[in-house]
Formats: sequence, structure tokens, C-alpha cells
Amino acid sequence: MTSKVFGISLRTHFRENLGQKLRRLLQALEPEKVVKPKSIWAIKIHFGERGNHTFIRPHLVRSFVDELKELGGKPFLTDANTLYVGGRINAVDHLETAVMHGFGYEVTGAPLIISDGLRGAGEAAIDVNRGGVKKAYISADFNAADGAVILSHLKGHELTGFGGALKNLGMGAASRRGKLDQHSDLSPQVTSKKCVGCGRCVKQCAHQAIDMAKKKAHIDPAKCVGCANCIPICPQEAIAVSWNGDAPRFMKKMIEYSKAAVAGKGENLLYVNFVNGVSPLCDCVNHSDAPIVADLGVLASRDPVALDMASAELVNQAPGLSGSALPESALAPGADKWTALHPDCQWRFQLEYAEKIGLGSCKYELVWLPEVAGIK
Ligand code: SF4
Ligand code: SF4
Repeated sequence: MTSKVFGISLRTHFRENLGQKLRRLLQALEPEKVVKPKSIWAIKIHFGERGNHTFIRPHLVRSFVDELKELGGKPFLTDANTLYVGGRINAVDHLETAVMHGFGYEVTGAPLIISDGLRGAGEAAIDVNRGGVKKAYISADFNAADGAVILSHLKGHELTGFGGALKNLGMGAASRRGKLDQHSDLSPQVTSKKCVGCGRCVKQCAHQAIDMAKKKAHIDPAKCVGCANCIPICPQEAIAVSWNGDAPRFMKKMIEYSKAAVAGKGENLLYVNFVNGVSPLCDCVNHSDAPIVADLGVLASRDPVALDMASAELVNQAPGLSGSALPESALAPGADKWTALHPDCQWRFQLEYAEKIGLGSCKYELVWLPEVAGIK
């Protein structure tokens, strides 16, 4: 099966600015067929870690909000809390970061909801039973929404080669327990040097997995269920994830989580990838390095696999920018830029696995929407 992917260039004109053009792009997906009056729609987005600047511009998000509202839908902007310590580890910090980055209601026209709640415990357990995971833990309010627009900024990623719609879904919509499940096969670890023995983590753990026998916290892996609730509670940042560096295993789990995240939403899913400001690393890092290619446009599809494949290949087909993190050998059009940046990840693996488990098709037809009259 070949899936259609629509694209717009970033050319604009007196007759059509980028916000208007984005609405035309969304309309190509025929949202009127799925956005029913009073249905509640999650606009899943990454608000950017503090210090990062390549996240999607908030005022452009308004185009999608306005389109959904005009069709009678009730959109909200959402993301789930992070696993690591930073500016988005609980809902208070996360909302402050979102507003600091311009995602307030006055700009976007939609309320903000952190989909797994104050400390990341709000989740729905979805049966998966595949090679990677048995159950997936998806953030509760993302799961409860009638439909979702997955707005993603395309960029590099150290564990998946690149991050697009599937990364935004599988990792981004997971609760903290779900994120830990994907990133690690082990319990969190306490760094004894940092622990001051305050005991807050002991009270937080509902599974009596933490003891203070030697006046420092210690996690018993036999009792720990991997909920990750102790990580954000530690004021010393002494509890951390034992990161799993096995890229294929991680990608497999992430794709199974993506499948779980869309369960129950049927056709009510619209995917948009911004292929601009393509930085070498994820927007989860506290900086944005120089883009590796010129701004190439915005792509949209009903099929997240086709969309990610089209977006990743569009970048590879473009000339690389010298002076960026790309090595000289990867600057030519057609060179595999993702592999040059992240040689330990075979980025196509995630898309092939996503196709195998029925999330979409790796084959796509890219249809560029016509420019308005006046653009030469
Ligand atoms: S909350 Fe942190 S500092 Fe306090 S006992 Fe637990 S690990 Fe140690
Ligand atoms: S991850 Fe959850 S179960 Fe394990 S020690 Fe931390 S709070 Fe307890």
C-alpha cells in the first residue's frame, strides 16, 4: 500500500502567509470527515526543553487550533512529563516552560493540559503483548481524547537516528512509567554521593522498594515495579534512570508504544511534521545546534509511517549545510545524514517495524500543494 503525504514549501505571499498555508495543508487531510462537533482533540506537541529554540513556533500552532474549532472540535495542547530532571519533569514546571516558550492561551487559542498529571502518575495501561512490551502505559488525558493532531518537529535523535511523528507519539504520549519502560530494563539507581538521606523517596514509593538501612536510599530491584515516581521527588537529583543503550530494542518498544497510543482513536488521527530548523539532537536537550539542512517545508499525512519516511528521506535528499554538525562526507544530496550523525542507529528499522505491526506504510507518494498565484 502506498500512502499519500502532502507537503507545503515555506514560500509565502501577500495572498497567503504561512499560517494560512498550514490550514490549507491540514485541509488536504480532510479533517471535516473526523472532527465531530464537541469532540475533544489533543494537539500533541513538544514545548521544548528550556534553552532549546527549535520547537514549533506557538503562533503557527494557532492555525491547527482554529481549524479544529471551526469544525466544532474542542482542541487542547498537550505533552506528558519527562523522565529526566529538567524544566518539564512535573506539571507545574512543564506548564511554566510551555508558557515561557510562548504556548499560552492568548497565543495559541487552546488550553494547556499536561496529559499525565501533576507528577506523571496519570496513565492508562494498554495491552500490547508483542516482542518488546506486554503493556504500554499511555498518559491518561492523551488516551482519553477523542482524536489527536500529532504536531512534530523533525530533528536528529541519539537513539532513533531522527525523531518525527512516531517518536512524538510513542515516547511523547507515554506516562513516566511508560518512558522508563522504553528507556531501561532496570530499576532506577540512587547515586549515594548525592543522597542526603531525607527519606522523601521512601514515602513516595507505593511498593516499599526503597529502604534507608545505611542512612542512604537503596532501591530493591525485586520490589521495584518501574513506576519512576521516585525520580522527580528527590530534591538532590540523586535518583536516575539506568539508560538502555540498545537502539533496536529501544526502537521496537517505542513503536509498540506508538501503536498503543493510537489505540481507540480509529481514524481520528492527523499527523504533521515541520521539516525546518532540523537540528542534530532532540528538542529535549537544553540547546539547539545549527540546522543540518535548509528549511524544507511542512508535511502532513494520515499515515505516520509514510510521513516519517517521507520527512527523513526529504532531509537526506537535500544538500547538507557546511558549518553544521554534519561531517564533510555527508553534505552531498542523497547522503544519509541521520546515519552520519548517529551511526549506532539504523533509523529505517523503526519504520520497517512500524509497518510490520500495522501502523502504516513505508511506501509514500509525496504531493506538494500548489503555490498561490503570484509565487514564481
Ligand atoms: S529523596 Fe533523594 S536525597 Fe532523599 S533519601 Fe531519597 S535519594 Fe536520598
Ligand atoms: S520506580 Fe517506583 S516502585 Fe521503583 S523504587 Fe521508584 S517509586 Fe518505588
